[in-house]
Amino acid sequence: MRYVVDCREQPSENNCTLTIAGEKEEVLKAAVEHAISSHGHTDSEELRSGIESGLKPEQTAAAS
Ligand SMILES: [Zn+2]
Repeated sequence: MRYVVDCREQPSENNCTLTIAGEKEEVLKAAVEHAISSHGHTDSEELRSGIESGLKPEQTAAAS
């Protein structure tokens, strides 16, 4: 199961359109780093739990 975080669904000040997909731990790590580097957030439990709550199972249109 892969998960995705779509920045378009998060409130952002820079109209970010990034989507991060992968294993849950990878997505969480990448999303935290992205939020810090691109959105000016600070690393915190609150940030991590906020991102984790935005994780969604990947929907694959090509799934048979
Ligand atoms: Zn973003």
